[in-house]
Amino acid sequence: MSKTIIVSNRLPVKISKTDNEYILSTSEGGLATGLGSVYKHGNNKWIGWPGIEITEADDRDKMTAQLDELSLVPVFLEQEEINQYYEGFSNEVLWPIFHYYISTYAVYKQSNWEYYNIVNNKFKDAILKIAQPGDVIWIHDYQLLLLPSLIRNELPDVSIGFFLHIPFPSQEMFRLIPWRYELLEGMLGSDLIGFHTYDDVRHFLGAATRILPVTSSANIITNGERSIVVESFPMGIDVKKYASLPLKKEVVEQIGSIKETFKNTKLILSIDRLDYSKGILQRLLAFEQLLQQHPEYCGKVTLHMIIVPSRDTVPQYAHLRDEIDKRVGNINGMYRNLDWTPIHYYYRSFPIETLSALYFAADVCLVTPMRDGMNLVSKEYVASRINDDGVLILSEMAGASKELIDALIVNPNNTNEVCNAIITALNMPPDEQKRRMQQMRQLVTKFNITHWVKIFMERLKEVKQMQRSMQTRHVSDGTEQSIINRYRKTKKRLIFLDYDGTLVGFKSNMAMAYPDKELLSLIDKLSSDRANDLVIISGRKHENIGEWFGDKDLYLIAEHGAWFKQKNTSWHKISGLSDSWKHDIYPVFETYVDRTPGSFIEEKTYSLVWHYRNAQKGLGELRANELMNNLKYIANDKGLQLLPGDKVLEVKNMEINKGKAALTLVDKKEYDFIIAFGDDYTDEDVFKALPDSAVTIKVGGNLSAAKFYLRNPTEVRKLLTNFTENVPVH
Ligand code: UDP
Repeated sequence: MSKTIIVSNRLPVKISKTDNEYILSTSEGGLATGLGSVYKHGNNKWIGWPGIEITEADDRDKMTAQLDELSLVPVFLEQEEINQYYEGFSNEVLWPIFHYYISTYAVYKQSNWEYYNIVNNKFKDAILKIAQPGDVIWIHDYQLLLLPSLIRNELPDVSIGFFLHIPFPSQEMFRLIPWRYELLEGMLGSDLIGFHTYDDVRHFLGAATRILPVTSSANIITNGERSIVVESFPMGIDVKKYASLPLKKEVVEQIGSIKETFKNTKLILSIDRLDYSKGILQRLLAFEQLLQQHPEYCGKVTLHMIIVPSRDTVPQYAHLRDEIDKRVGNINGMYRNLDWTPIHYYYRSFPIETLSALYFAADVCLVTPMRDGMNLVSKEYVASRINDDGVLILSEMAGASKELIDALIVNPNNTNEVCNAIITALNMPPDEQKRRMQQMRQLVTKFNITHWVKIFMERLKEVKQMQRSMQTRHVSDGTEQSIINRYRKTKKRLIFLDYDGTLVGFKSNMAMAYPDKELLSLIDKLSSDRANDLVIISGRKHENIGEWFGDKDLYLIAEHGAWFKQKNTSWHKISGLSDSWKHDIYPVFETYVDRTPGSFIEEKTYSLVWHYRNAQKGLGELRANELMNNLKYIANDKGLQLLPGDKVLEVKNMEINKGKAALTLVDKKEYDFIIAFGDDYTDEDVFKALPDSAVTIKVGGNLSAAKFYLRNPTEVRKLLTNFTENVPVH
C-alpha cells in the first residue's frame, strides 16, 4: 500500500536531554496539528531534523527508535551543516530575498550554497530509504527547495507536493540569487507547488518562465514532458483550539487578571517572532506618534508587546533587538507615569493559555509586518474572539490580508495611516466590530488547517491522476507494436504529418527549422512505399513548404489548407475566399509591432500572423492577450478565426482549417490505415475530423482530442522509422 511522507526542516517535536536520556514531547504548532491527521496514520511518516545535534552512533540509534514510535524519522545534521545550510543559506540568502530585504541582509557564500546542496541530499537519502514508487511526498518550505527534483530523479513515479510557507518574491528579486536556476529546477521536480497567496503564484510563474526554458499556460508549467500545477492554498489555523481555549478554567482566570490589570486602559496586543520582516520598529513609531500627537490617549491605551526570541545569535537580529529595547525604553521613559506604562514589553515566549487570554482580552490586535507569507497571529486573534468583538489592524503585506479583508488594512510604512488606524480601532462602535469580526471568524473557521491539508492533498491526487491519464495515452511499447502491426497488415495508408513541433523542434528564427538530412531520408523511405500516401500538413507558407519538399513524392498542404500540391503538379489555392479583411487587420497588427520590440508580422494568402518569440518574455504574452481581446469582435463579424499558437497569434479565414483539408484527402481512396501527428491547436481540427478508426497522435503535453501522445519530435521520428523497418514494401 502506498504511504504519505511529510518532509520539513524541523520535526514537530521538542527534545530535551537529562543525564542519560532524551525526553520527547510533540509540538503543538498549527502545522503539526494539521498534518497530524496525515503522518500519524498507517505507515505514513514525517521526516526532518530533530532540532538538536546528536553525534554518537548509539545516541542516534536510541533517538531514531524513540522517534519511530511517534511516526517520525530523523535526519541528523552536524553543527557545521546547521550553520551553513540553515543559518547561512536558508536564513541569510533565501529569507531576506524572499522578504524583499535584499541589499542589506543577503549574504552569498559559495560554501553556504554547497552545504545547502549537501543537506538537501541528506534529506533525499533519508526519504529514499523509506519511499516506494507510488508514494505521496509533501515537502515543506524554503530550506528544501532542491529536494523535489532530487527525489524525482530517483523515483520518477512518486507524487511530490511542495508548499512554501514564506512569500515568493517577484522575479526581479529572485533572479539576483546566483543559484536561481538550480533553485527553480529543484522546485519543478514537484507535481504541485503551493503558496499562501495568488501573488506568490504569479511571482513564481513569472520567475520560472523567464529564468528557465519552460512555458506556462494559466497556472500549469510545462517542463519537458511534465506538467506542474502551481496554486495558492492559504494556510489556516487550528480554529477549534483557539475558539475553545477562552472557555478553559485556567484561561478564564488569566483573562480575569489581565482585565483587572488593564481596567483603566484599552489594550493593544502585538505578538511577533524577533525578525526584521515583522515591522516592529515601524510599529513603535506609529504608537509613539499616537502618544505624541494625541496626548488624550496617554494613560488610556497600553501596548502589550510580545517578541518571541529567534535567531538572536545572528548579528542583524541582535541589532534589531537592541533597537527595540532602546525604542521601547525611550517611549516608556518619555510618557509613563506612576499609574501607567505605555508599553508592556516581553522578550520571551508564552504558553498557549496565556496567549489565548491575551487574544481574548485585547481590544485591538496590531499586526504590521513589512512582509509575511501568511501571519498566523492575526488569524489566532480572530479565532479567539468568540464574542465577535475586538478590532484587527493588519498590514497589507501579510498574506492573511488577502483573506481578512474586514480588518483595518494598513501599509506598515505609512506611520500616519497606522496611527490613524489605531485611533479608528479604539473608537470603533460595537456594531461595526461585530460585523467585521463575524465575517472574519467565518472565514477563519472554514479555511482552517484541516481544510488546508485536505484540499492540498486532494489537489495533489488530482494532478497525479491528470498526469497518469496522459501517461496511459502515451504510446507505450505495447501500443507502438500494435500500431506497427496494423501498419504492416494494411495496403492503403494515409499519413498526415504536421511539420513544426512535430517533425522538428522550434527555433528562434523560423527559417532555421529546415528539415535535416535524417528527416529527409526518413520521408523518402516512407514515401517510397507505394502503399503510403504521405501528407505534410502545415501552417507555413506554401512557398516555404514547396522549397523544402516540392520535389518529393508527397502531398503538401500549406497555410492550414489554403494551398494544396501533389507531386509533379503546381500549387493550387482554395478558391472563392476573400482576403479583403487584411486591410483592416494589418494596421492593427502594425501598432503591436511598433509597441513590441522583437515582434513581426508574417503575411500568408488567407492569414496574418503576429510572431513574438523574440519579444521580451512576458511582454509578448501580454500583448498577444491584448491583441486577442482587441480583435475578438471584429474577427467574428468578418468570419475570421483567432489562433493562439506557440509564440504566435494567427488570424485566418474561418473556412480554412486543417481538419477540412485533411478530409478532402480521406475521401479520395479507400484507405485502410489513417494516422495523423500534430502538436498544436490547429492539429486538433485534424484529430477531430478524421474517422474513428484513425490513429491520432498528439506531440507534447497539453490536453488533446488525439488518442495517443508522444513527447517530442524525436519520438515521432522513432515511430516513423520503425514503420519503415522490416515492413514488406508494397
Ligand atoms: N507563538 C508562540 N509562542 C509565543 C508567541 C507566539 O508559539 O510566545 C506562536 C503564535 O501563536 C503563532 C506563531 O508563533 O502561531 C507565529 O506565527 P506567524 O505566522 O504569525 O509568524 P512566523 O513566526 O511564522 O513568521
